[in-house]
Amino acid sequence: MKQKRFILQESEIPTQWYNVQAEMPNKVLPFKNPGTGEKMGPEDLYPIFAKECCNQELNQKDTWINIPEPIREKYAYYRCTPLVRAYGLEEALDTPAHIYFKNESVNPLGSHKINSALAQAYYLKQEGITNVTTETGAGQWGAALSYAAKLFGLEAAVYQVKISYEQKPYRRSVMQLFGAQVTPSPSMSTKFGRRILTDFPNHQGSLGTAISEALELAMSTPNCKYSLGSVLNHVCLHQTVIGLEAEKQMAMAGEYPDEVIACFGGGSNFCGIALPFLRHNFNGSRHTRFTAVEPTACPKLTKGKFDYDFGDEGCMTPLIPMYTLGHDFRPSNIHAGGLRYHGAGAIVSQLLKDGFIEAMDAEQLEVFKAAELFAKSEGIVPAPESSHAIYGVIQRALECKKTGEKKVILFNLSGHGLIDMTAYDDYMSGNMVNTTL
Ligand SMILES: *Cc1c(COP(=O)(O)O)cnc(C)c1O
Repeated sequence: MKQKRFILQESEIPTQWYNVQAEMPNKVLPFKNPGTGEKMGPEDLYPIFAKECCNQELNQKDTWINIPEPIREKYAYYRCTPLVRAYGLEEALDTPAHIYFKNESVNPLGSHKINSALAQAYYLKQEGITNVTTETGAGQWGAALSYAAKLFGLEAAVYQVKISYEQKPYRRSVMQLFGAQVTPSPSMSTKFGRRILTDFPNHQGSLGTAISEALELAMSTPNCKYSLGSVLNHVCLHQTVIGLEAEKQMAMAGEYPDEVIACFGGGSNFCGIALPFLRHNFNGSRHTRFTAVEPTACPKLTKGKFDYDFGDEGCMTPLIPMYTLGHDFRPSNIHAGGLRYHGAGAIVSQLLKDGFIEAMDAEQLEVFKAAELFAKSEGIVPAPESSHAIYGVIQRALECKKTGEKKVILFNLSGHGLIDMTAYDDYMSGNMVNTTL
């Protein structure tokens, strides 16, 4: 019988995260204070994020960072996650390529977001914080943080992008079940939200808007800090457990990836799967190709420009060196809520600029066709976000069919889509449209 799943024991959960910042040939440019234009140090970020996360954010020195034991203990609830050989998809595509996926949907929350939520909640608790605020799009991050907050004894308040709050009511229920307070954004509960609603009464919300509201609440509430589920360097760092495990599992399968592919919102799951393999490209020992797949409706990597920009619509964050469509960009209402963000994280942006990684974009309808094929051949309903990666994999596997190359393709299945069935209903009923810029 063919071996399909590659499983690691609990004892093989990584003990350290991989900090690519220490090894990048061109370092990430410093964050800047929007008021003074001055370069920011970790202390400048302490009022917003957990101190340890601020230190990790700007750490360009240590290649490996220890994972505290209480976080590893929580990881053990669901890690190590399986690596799976997608024989069914290979057969459906009639491709000579070998396709593998790392299944990050296999945890109580259903997406990779929990890997960083646990770390951030732990560090906040450690320094005596009692309340945490955040934003969420489709709700995966909000659900993950709500759960992590509950585990470590913090109160969570989540601003959910209004369009997702309405399209994905069950993720709201999940957050509420864990005890979080959930508010659709833009809302009347913050100064920024009130300003937006006065100017644009029908504003559907965006991650950039929800971030501003969550930040405002954090800064005006005592003993409260803010937590972000993507984009930032420390979030990408926490996600490297994905690729570090996958590297061992690929070795168990006796292969090494020629292609690594992930969907792209702000960069956390892409970094998670890609960076531990990319480190072998830096010294020339491997030549893997890395591709981030983003929606055509929100194409910061393929159509954005590299510049200093804000991480939020309300201009409250530091200025970040990133590929961006502009902090006031309003993406159309595609179902992949987690990919509706205007900018790319600083690490990915620098790597793209330096030619270490590539990007492609995908239309919504093509993405759902890819999702359908994957569901039918592998028996898993992928998240609309993750389906962008599947679309990319199919493009590459079909190229192999043309050329006859037996490439090894690895992708990250960042989450399942079982709470996104309204999106699939829309697709199956023929109502779904492609939305471009
Ligand atoms: C949030 C999310 C994404 C996009 O965020 P990244 O930080 O780019 O990974 C992708 N897939 C799923 C399932 C998500 O929840």
